Amino acid sequence: AKKAGKNCWRFYEPVLLQETNEKMVLTNGLRRGLERGEFSLQYQPQFASSGEYLVGFEALLRWNSADHGFMPPNRFIPLAEQTGLIVPIGEWVLTEACRFARRLSDMGKEDIHVAVNISPRQLVSENFVDKVRSCIEYAGIKPGQIEIEITESVFIESVNDAVLKLCQLREIGVILSLDDFGTGYSSLTYLRSLPVGVLKIDKSFIDEIINDQAQLHVVGAIINLGHTLGLTIVAEGVETEKQLKILSEYRCDRIQGYIFSKPLTEEAAIELAQGM
Ligand code: C2E
Ligand code: CA
Ligand code: CA
Ligand code: CA
Repeated sequence: AKKAGKNCWRFYEPVLLQETNEKMVLTNGLRRGLERGEFSLQYQPQFASSGEYLVGFEALLRWNSADHGFMPPNRFIPLAEQTGLIVPIGEWVLTEACRFARRLSDMGKEDIHVAVNISPRQLVSENFVDKVRSCIEYAGIKPGQIEIEITESVFIESVNDAVLKLCQLREIGVILSLDDFGTGYSSLTYLRSLPVGVLKIDKSFIDEIINDQAQLHVVGAIINLGHTLGLTIVAEGVETEKQLKILSEYRCDRIQGYIFSKPLTEEAAIELAQGM
Protein backbone atom coordinates (compact mmCIF):
# COMPACT_ATOMS: atom_id res chain seq x y z
CA ALA A 1 0.00 0.00 0.00
CA LYS A 2 1.09 3.53 -0.75
CA LYS A 3 1.82 5.93 2.05
CA ALA A 4 -0.99 8.41 1.95
CA GLY A 5 0.79 10.56 4.49
CA LYS A 6 2.91 9.44 7.40
CA ASN A 7 0.07 9.11 9.84
CA CYS A 8 -2.38 7.35 7.65
CA TRP A 9 -0.83 4.36 5.95
CA ARG A 10 -0.91 2.07 8.93
CA PHE A 11 -4.62 2.62 9.11
CA TYR A 12 -5.42 2.05 5.44
CA GLU A 13 -3.26 -0.93 4.62
CA PRO A 14 -5.09 -3.71 6.47
CA VAL A 15 -8.46 -2.54 5.21
CA LEU A 16 -7.36 -2.48 1.58
CA LEU A 17 -5.66 -5.85 1.85
CA GLN A 18 -8.70 -7.40 3.40
CA GLU A 19 -10.90 -5.99 0.68
CA THR A 20 -8.75 -7.26 -2.19
CA ASN A 21 -8.46 -10.62 -0.48
CA GLU A 22 -12.19 -10.99 -0.17
CA LYS A 23 -12.61 -9.97 -3.77
CA MET A 24 -10.06 -12.53 -4.91
CA VAL A 25 -11.70 -15.30 -2.94
CA LEU A 26 -15.10 -14.39 -4.31
CA THR A 27 -13.78 -14.03 -7.86
CA ASN A 28 -12.29 -17.51 -7.69
CA GLY A 29 -15.57 -18.72 -6.26
CA LEU A 30 -17.44 -17.27 -9.23
CA ARG A 31 -15.05 -18.87 -11.72
CA ARG A 32 -15.33 -22.26 -10.06
CA GLY A 33 -19.05 -21.81 -9.55
CA LEU A 34 -19.49 -21.56 -13.29
CA GLU A 35 -17.45 -24.74 -13.83
CA ARG A 36 -19.26 -26.64 -11.10
CA GLY A 37 -22.72 -25.64 -12.26
CA GLU A 38 -23.60 -23.64 -9.14
CA PHE A 39 -25.64 -21.07 -11.06
CA SER A 40 -29.30 -21.34 -11.82
CA LEU A 41 -32.06 -19.14 -13.15
CA GLN A 42 -35.39 -18.22 -11.67
CA TYR A 43 -38.19 -16.76 -13.72
CA GLN A 44 -40.44 -13.98 -12.49
CA PRO A 45 -43.75 -13.66 -14.33
CA GLN A 46 -44.96 -10.45 -15.94
CA PHE A 47 -48.69 -10.03 -16.26
CA ALA A 48 -50.96 -7.67 -18.17
CA SER A 49 -52.31 -5.08 -15.70
CA SER A 50 -55.59 -6.97 -15.47
CA GLY A 51 -53.64 -9.88 -14.03
CA GLU A 52 -55.40 -12.21 -16.43
CA TYR A 53 -52.66 -12.72 -18.98
CA LEU A 54 -49.16 -13.97 -18.48
CA VAL A 55 -47.12 -12.00 -21.00
CA GLY A 56 -43.59 -13.01 -20.12
CA PHE A 57 -40.90 -13.87 -17.63
CA GLU A 58 -37.72 -12.16 -16.46
CA ALA A 59 -34.79 -14.54 -15.98
CA LEU A 60 -32.98 -13.82 -12.72
CA LEU A 61 -29.61 -15.31 -11.86
CA ARG A 62 -29.07 -17.29 -8.67
CA TRP A 63 -25.77 -18.48 -7.22
CA ASN A 64 -25.78 -21.21 -4.62
CA SER A 65 -22.10 -21.46 -3.80
CA ALA A 66 -20.58 -24.53 -2.16
CA ASP A 67 -18.08 -22.21 -0.44
CA HIS A 68 -20.12 -19.11 0.28
CA GLY A 69 -23.67 -20.37 0.51
CA PHE A 70 -26.47 -18.56 -1.25
CA MET A 71 -25.25 -15.25 -2.68
CA PRO A 72 -27.77 -12.67 -3.88
CA PRO A 73 -27.08 -11.13 -7.31
CA ASN A 74 -26.57 -7.66 -5.88
CA ARG A 75 -23.50 -9.03 -4.07
CA PHE A 76 -21.79 -10.91 -6.87
CA ILE A 77 -22.86 -9.23 -10.10
CA PRO A 78 -20.94 -5.99 -9.50
CA LEU A 79 -17.80 -8.07 -8.91
CA ALA A 80 -18.47 -10.22 -11.95
CA GLU A 81 -18.73 -6.98 -13.93
CA GLN A 82 -15.49 -5.59 -12.54
CA THR A 83 -13.56 -8.75 -13.30
CA GLY A 84 -15.13 -9.40 -16.70
CA LEU A 85 -16.48 -12.75 -15.50
CA ILE A 86 -19.94 -11.43 -16.33
CA VAL A 87 -19.14 -12.21 -19.96
CA PRO A 88 -18.93 -16.02 -19.60
CA ILE A 89 -21.57 -16.03 -16.85
CA GLY A 90 -23.86 -13.93 -19.01
CA GLU A 91 -23.37 -16.31 -21.91
CA TRP A 92 -24.48 -19.16 -19.71
CA VAL A 93 -27.55 -17.13 -18.66
CA LEU A 94 -28.44 -16.44 -22.28
CA THR A 95 -28.10 -20.09 -23.27
CA GLU A 96 -30.27 -21.21 -20.36
CA ALA A 97 -32.92 -18.57 -21.01
CA CYS A 98 -33.11 -19.58 -24.69
CA ARG A 99 -33.51 -23.23 -23.68
CA PHE A 100 -36.35 -22.19 -21.37
CA ALA A 101 -37.93 -20.18 -24.20
CA ARG A 102 -37.75 -23.33 -26.34
CA ARG A 103 -39.66 -25.25 -23.70
CA LEU A 104 -42.33 -22.55 -23.86
CA SER A 105 -42.58 -22.62 -27.65
CA ASP A 106 -42.74 -26.43 -27.58
CA MET A 107 -45.81 -25.99 -25.38
CA GLY A 108 -47.33 -23.66 -27.97
CA LYS A 109 -46.57 -20.66 -25.77
CA GLU A 110 -44.15 -18.82 -27.97
CA ASP A 111 -45.90 -15.50 -27.38
CA ILE A 112 -44.70 -15.59 -23.76
CA HIS A 113 -41.36 -13.80 -23.96
CA VAL A 114 -38.27 -14.37 -21.82
CA ALA A 115 -36.36 -11.28 -20.65
CA VAL A 116 -32.64 -11.52 -19.96
CA ASN A 117 -30.52 -8.96 -18.07
CA ILE A 118 -27.42 -7.90 -19.96
CA SER A 119 -24.75 -5.89 -18.18
CA PRO A 120 -23.01 -3.01 -19.98
CA ARG A 121 -19.71 -4.83 -20.05
CA GLN A 122 -21.36 -7.79 -21.74
CA LEU A 123 -23.14 -5.70 -24.36
CA VAL A 124 -19.91 -4.09 -25.54
CA SER A 125 -17.90 -7.34 -25.35
CA GLU A 126 -16.56 -8.82 -28.54
CA ASN A 127 -18.98 -10.74 -30.76
CA PHE A 128 -21.86 -10.17 -28.37
CA VAL A 129 -24.41 -9.82 -31.16
CA ASP A 130 -23.16 -12.99 -32.87
CA LYS A 131 -23.42 -14.86 -29.59
CA VAL A 132 -27.02 -13.79 -29.15
CA ARG A 133 -27.81 -14.85 -32.70
CA SER A 134 -26.24 -18.28 -32.28
CA CYS A 135 -27.89 -18.90 -28.89
CA ILE A 136 -31.25 -18.22 -30.52
CA GLU A 137 -30.49 -20.43 -33.52
CA TYR A 138 -29.13 -23.23 -31.35
CA ALA A 139 -32.28 -23.23 -29.21
CA GLY A 140 -34.46 -23.11 -32.31
CA ILE A 141 -36.61 -20.23 -31.12
CA LYS A 142 -37.89 -17.03 -32.70
CA PRO A 143 -35.81 -13.94 -31.89
CA GLY A 144 -38.97 -12.14 -30.74
CA GLN A 145 -39.27 -14.59 -27.84
CA ILE A 146 -36.21 -13.02 -26.26
CA GLU A 147 -36.20 -9.62 -24.63
CA ILE A 148 -32.88 -8.04 -23.73
CA GLU A 149 -32.84 -5.74 -20.71
CA ILE A 150 -30.15 -3.11 -20.56
CA THR A 151 -29.70 -0.24 -18.14
CA GLU A 152 -29.05 3.40 -18.83
CA SER A 153 -25.52 3.07 -17.45
CA VAL A 154 -24.52 1.42 -20.72
CA PHE A 155 -24.61 4.83 -22.38
CA ILE A 156 -22.21 6.50 -19.98
CA GLU A 157 -19.05 4.90 -21.24
CA SER A 158 -19.43 3.85 -24.82
CA VAL A 159 -22.54 5.41 -26.29
CA ASN A 160 -21.66 4.77 -29.91
CA ASP A 161 -20.73 1.12 -29.50
CA ALA A 162 -23.76 0.49 -27.29
CA VAL A 163 -26.18 2.10 -29.74
CA LEU A 164 -24.61 0.22 -32.65
CA LYS A 165 -24.97 -3.11 -30.83
CA LEU A 166 -28.57 -2.33 -29.92
CA CYS A 167 -29.39 -1.54 -33.54
CA GLN A 168 -27.84 -4.84 -34.64
CA LEU A 169 -29.81 -6.70 -31.98
CA ARG A 170 -33.01 -5.10 -33.13
CA GLU A 171 -32.21 -6.14 -36.65
CA ILE A 172 -31.99 -9.75 -35.47
CA GLY A 173 -35.49 -9.28 -34.07
CA VAL A 174 -35.00 -9.48 -30.31
CA ILE A 175 -37.02 -7.07 -28.17
CA LEU A 176 -35.01 -4.38 -26.38
CA SER A 177 -35.97 -3.10 -22.99
CA LEU A 178 -34.59 -0.24 -20.90
CA ASP A 179 -34.41 -1.44 -17.29
CA ASP A 180 -34.47 0.57 -14.04
CA PHE A 181 -35.78 3.59 -15.89
CA GLY A 182 -35.62 6.76 -13.85
CA THR A 183 -32.55 5.88 -11.81
CA GLY A 184 -30.03 6.86 -14.47
CA TYR A 185 -29.40 9.62 -16.89
CA SER A 186 -31.56 9.33 -19.93
CA SER A 187 -34.52 11.53 -20.57
CA LEU A 188 -37.62 10.58 -22.46
CA THR A 189 -36.57 12.71 -25.42
CA TYR A 190 -33.24 10.89 -25.56
CA LEU A 191 -35.18 7.65 -25.62
CA ARG A 192 -36.54 8.51 -29.04
CA SER A 193 -33.14 8.02 -30.58
CA LEU A 194 -32.69 4.57 -28.99
CA PRO A 195 -33.92 1.37 -30.64
CA VAL A 196 -35.79 0.35 -27.49
CA GLY A 197 -39.36 -0.94 -27.42
CA VAL A 198 -39.96 -1.48 -23.71
CA LEU A 199 -39.47 0.72 -20.67
CA LYS A 200 -39.26 -0.70 -17.17
CA ILE A 201 -40.03 1.80 -14.43
CA ASP A 202 -37.77 1.18 -11.46
CA LYS A 203 -39.17 -0.19 -8.22
CA SER A 204 -37.99 2.88 -6.30
CA PHE A 205 -40.62 4.94 -8.17
CA ILE A 206 -43.31 2.32 -7.78
CA ASP A 207 -42.63 2.18 -4.01
CA GLU A 208 -43.53 5.84 -3.64
CA ILE A 209 -46.61 6.28 -5.78
CA ILE A 210 -48.91 5.53 -2.86
CA ASN A 211 -47.62 8.12 -0.42
CA ASP A 212 -46.08 10.72 -2.65
CA GLN A 213 -48.43 12.64 -4.92
CA ALA A 214 -45.52 14.17 -6.86
CA GLN A 215 -43.98 10.75 -7.59
CA LEU A 216 -47.36 9.52 -8.71
CA HIS A 217 -47.47 12.29 -11.28
CA VAL A 218 -43.94 11.54 -12.43
CA VAL A 219 -44.85 7.91 -13.00
CA GLY A 220 -48.05 8.96 -14.77
CA ALA A 221 -46.06 11.25 -17.03
CA ILE A 222 -43.52 8.52 -17.83
CA ILE A 223 -46.32 6.15 -18.81
CA ASN A 224 -48.10 8.72 -20.99
CA LEU A 225 -45.00 9.99 -22.73
CA GLY A 226 -43.70 6.45 -23.14
CA HIS A 227 -46.94 5.50 -24.84
CA THR A 228 -46.70 8.53 -27.10
CA LEU A 229 -43.29 7.25 -28.15
CA GLY A 230 -44.84 3.87 -28.89
CA LEU A 231 -43.20 2.07 -25.98
CA THR A 232 -44.54 -0.77 -23.87
CA ILE A 233 -44.39 0.18 -20.18
CA VAL A 234 -43.57 -2.30 -17.41
CA ALA A 235 -43.78 -1.53 -13.69
CA GLU A 236 -41.40 -3.59 -11.56
CA GLY A 237 -41.62 -4.34 -7.87
CA VAL A 238 -45.40 -3.95 -7.59
CA GLU A 239 -46.39 -5.27 -4.19
CA THR A 240 -49.81 -3.90 -3.23
CA GLU A 241 -53.35 -3.78 -4.61
CA LYS A 242 -53.27 -0.02 -4.29
CA GLN A 243 -50.22 0.27 -6.53
CA LEU A 244 -51.76 -2.14 -9.00
CA LYS A 245 -54.98 -0.15 -9.14
CA ILE A 246 -53.18 3.14 -9.77
CA LEU A 247 -50.92 1.60 -12.41
CA SER A 248 -53.77 0.02 -14.32
CA GLU A 249 -55.66 3.32 -14.20
CA TYR A 250 -52.63 4.88 -15.85
CA ARG A 251 -52.73 2.05 -18.41
CA CYS A 252 -49.36 0.62 -17.52
CA ASP A 253 -48.99 -2.34 -19.88
CA ARG A 254 -47.30 -4.94 -17.73
CA ILE A 255 -46.91 -5.63 -14.04
CA GLN A 256 -44.04 -7.50 -12.45
CA GLY A 257 -43.89 -7.91 -8.71
CA TYR A 258 -44.70 -9.87 -5.62
CA ILE A 259 -48.38 -8.92 -5.90
CA PHE A 260 -48.61 -11.55 -8.61
CA SER A 261 -45.56 -13.70 -8.09
CA LYS A 262 -42.04 -13.93 -6.78
CA PRO A 263 -39.37 -15.38 -9.08
CA LEU A 264 -40.14 -19.08 -9.70
CA THR A 265 -38.05 -22.16 -10.36
CA GLU A 266 -38.03 -23.26 -13.97
CA GLU A 267 -40.48 -26.09 -13.30
CA ALA A 268 -42.90 -23.82 -11.43
CA ALA A 269 -42.69 -21.28 -14.26
CA ILE A 270 -43.46 -23.96 -16.86
CA GLU A 271 -46.41 -25.11 -14.78
CA LEU A 272 -47.74 -21.57 -14.56
CA ALA A 273 -47.41 -21.08 -18.32
CA GLN A 274 -49.13 -24.42 -18.92
CA GLY A 275 -52.17 -23.29 -16.96
CA MET A 276 -52.54 -20.02 -18.85
P1 C2E B 1 -33.50 -6.05 -11.69
O1 C2E B 1 -33.13 -6.34 -13.09
O2 C2E B 1 -34.07 -4.71 -11.40
O3 C2E B 1 -34.50 -7.22 -11.26
C1 C2E B 1 -35.60 -7.04 -10.42
C2 C2E B 1 -35.26 -7.39 -9.00
O4 C2E B 1 -36.36 -7.03 -8.17
C3 C2E B 1 -35.05 -8.88 -8.77
O5 C2E B 1 -34.10 -9.02 -7.73
C4 C2E B 1 -36.43 -9.34 -8.31
O6 C2E B 1 -36.41 -10.53 -7.57
C5 C2E B 1 -36.84 -8.17 -7.46
N1 C2E B 1 -38.28 -8.01 -7.33
C6 C2E B 1 -39.23 -8.23 -8.28
N2 C2E B 1 -40.46 -7.94 -7.80
C7 C2E B 1 -40.31 -7.51 -6.54
C8 C2E B 1 -41.21 -7.04 -5.52
O7 C2E B 1 -42.42 -6.96 -5.70
N3 C2E B 1 -40.65 -6.67 -4.33
C9 C2E B 1 -39.33 -6.73 -4.09
N4 C2E B 1 -38.88 -6.35 -2.90
N5 C2E B 1 -38.43 -7.16 -5.04
C10 C2E B 1 -38.92 -7.54 -6.23
P2 C2E B 1 -32.88 -10.03 -7.82
O8 C2E B 1 -33.30 -11.31 -8.47
O9 C2E B 1 -32.26 -10.09 -6.47
O10 C2E B 1 -31.89 -9.32 -8.82
C11 C2E B 1 -31.23 -8.14 -8.46
C12 C2E B 1 -30.52 -7.54 -9.64
O11 C2E B 1 -29.44 -8.35 -10.09
C13 C2E B 1 -31.41 -7.37 -10.87
O12 C2E B 1 -32.22 -6.23 -10.72
C14 C2E B 1 -30.38 -7.24 -11.96
O13 C2E B 1 -29.86 -5.94 -12.03
C15 C2E B 1 -29.29 -8.17 -11.47
N6 C2E B 1 -29.38 -9.46 -12.16
C16 C2E B 1 -30.14 -10.54 -11.90
N7 C2E B 1 -29.91 -11.54 -12.77
C17 C2E B 1 -28.99 -11.07 -13.66
C18 C2E B 1 -28.34 -11.62 -14.82
O14 C2E B 1 -28.59 -12.76 -15.27
N8 C2E B 1 -27.41 -10.83 -15.45
C19 C2E B 1 -27.15 -9.56 -15.01
N9 C2E B 1 -26.22 -8.83 -15.71
N10 C2E B 1 -27.74 -9.01 -13.95
C20 C2E B 1 -28.66 -9.75 -13.27
CA1 CA C 1 -34.03 -6.47 -15.02
CA1 CA D 1 -35.22 -3.63 -13.15
CA1 CA E 1 -34.39 -2.39 -10.20
